[in-house]
Amino acid sequence: MAAKGGLNLILLGPPGAGKGTQAKRLEERYGIAQISTGDMLRGEVAAGSEIGKKAKAIMEAGELVPDEIIIAMLSARIARPDCANGFILDGFPRTVPQAEALDVMLGEHGLTLSAVIELKVDDAALVERIAGRFTCATCGAGYHDVFKPPKIPGHCDVCGGTTFSRRADDNRDTVAARLAAYHRQTAPILPYYAAQGRLYSVDGMAAIDDVTVAVERVLSGVEA
Ligand code: AMP
Repeated sequence: MAAKGGLNLILLGPPGAGKGTQAKRLEERYGIAQISTGDMLRGEVAAGSEIGKKAKAIMEAGELVPDEIIIAMLSARIARPDCANGFILDGFPRTVPQAEALDVMLGEHGLTLSAVIELKVDDAALVERIAGRFTCATCGAGYHDVFKPPKIPGHCDVCGGTTFSRRADDNRDTVAARLAAYHRQTAPILPYYAAQGRLYSVDGMAAIDDVTVAVERVLSGVEA
């Protein structure tokens, strides 16, 4: 399917499905921008901005930040030059109204979606995946205590940084709320995109490299 304005992708799946990990790889492979609404919001919280002040408590409870905040943030983001070849949305849309708003917003920017890729995973595996994850505080590279520890303990493989951080909402209670929000509010997006003929599903339980291969196989069919 030819898309207007580059390779414009959505990665869908519950928290811990591997969206961020795969998005980083796609960013490098295709020269497109990873846009994580969660990362953008965490940046706003860290900066203490007006948006950050509104979002902080909502995020800590594992609930969804109001649509108007997210959509305004995203519309400005996809107009930036690093999205010229396309982008990968990670963490957006989260609800059917967000998916509908995205279609309108892309139309306003003269863009269309190339594909929506669902990473399918078992809920039972997610708590373990989420509880073990952490990132390099310097370059943002993602790691996991069990599945992907740094090659030299305490040193980032990518930049050599020695400071790491864990997300405030990656605790068992919040994970349960985030999974419930996914099933209640986000999973209904799947039939929305299936009806548009844009949905592709990949086994997100496979090893990280195998998931990447499966995603690239999907994209080789939609790129042209
Ligand atoms: P994530 O990093 O995608 O897991 O997002 C972390 C938190 O940020 C979520 O639990 C929500 O509180 C908020 N958030 C991220 N993306 C969205 C979105 N598209 N709509 C509403 N809230 C969001």
